[in-house]
Amino acid sequence: KSSEPYRGRFAPSPTGPLHFGSMVAAAGSFLQAKSRGGEWLVRMEDLDPPREAPGAADDILRTLEAFGLHWDGEVVYQSRRHALYEEALEKLRARNALYACACSRREIADSSVNGVDGLVYPGTCRGGIAPGRAPRAWRVKVDGQKIEFIDAIQGRMVRDLAVDFGDFVVRRADGFFAYQLAVVADDAAQGITAIVRGADLIESTPRQIHLQRLLDLPTPDYLHLPVALNARSEKLSKQTLAAPLDAARPMPALLQVMRFLGQEVPPELADGSLADFWRWAVMHWDMTRVPRVAGIIV
Ligand code: GLU
Repeated sequence: KSSEPYRGRFAPSPTGPLHFGSMVAAAGSFLQAKSRGGEWLVRMEDLDPPREAPGAADDILRTLEAFGLHWDGEVVYQSRRHALYEEALEKLRARNALYACACSRREIADSSVNGVDGLVYPGTCRGGIAPGRAPRAWRVKVDGQKIEFIDAIQGRMVRDLAVDFGDFVVRRADGFFAYQLAVVADDAAQGITAIVRGADLIESTPRQIHLQRLLDLPTPDYLHLPVALNARSEKLSKQTLAAPLDAARPMPALLQVMRFLGQEVPPELADGSLADFWRWAVMHWDMTRVPRVAGIIV
């Protein structure tokens, strides 16, 4: 694997402007790629129109540029790639790994136990939908096997898909493709060799590896960065009202991002240009200094 050219990506969902937490993922994935002489792609995960904010995608791209984060190639938009996800669903169907599910959220909540990432689907519709009921979502079957991977920062991780998640949704009841499916199809189609993202997504990784195996796709390397929390120990997000980054003043935020990622930045960099900052940061990026645990940003 080490002979492949490195190709990383940043994959924001355009639900609102970039905040400190998203910049941690952007900068971390960029530095990991560029310090290896690799490429860094940007993919807009506009797969979930009900959650998206008008103008957010353009705003995110403008902010990345203002912060001196220049991507390689064209930005890919998931909203234009439904055919790719449809094809992945077809493959799952052909492998007999897919089934229609008629259960409502309420029914699942009433009959399931809690897994590591929410409710575990009890498999009600695995053997077919009860007569008179309409299909809603599409689920992929998980089997009894455990999924294990070594995260470059978080270490070894093992999950039992059946116990921890159950059969999971790949096409939602509202007709949209699920994140898990699209991200796997796109990372493979774009030739991504390493995924650097926030540790809030680490529970998704075993499900994504399961899909990669069912679809005969390679598994990239994984590196999950510490999550940025606010003073109330909540993950920074649109829901917790994280402050948008100030595109007019990138340097203070960039220095804070670097410190958050465990990198020691010479203070005089603050007075230099963005180009000088990134040149220094790429040259001195030390992944082994990135902390494992979440950090609080005030
Ligand atoms: N679009 C996802 C998010 O913004 C990230 C997907 C990923 O990096 O795998 O949370």
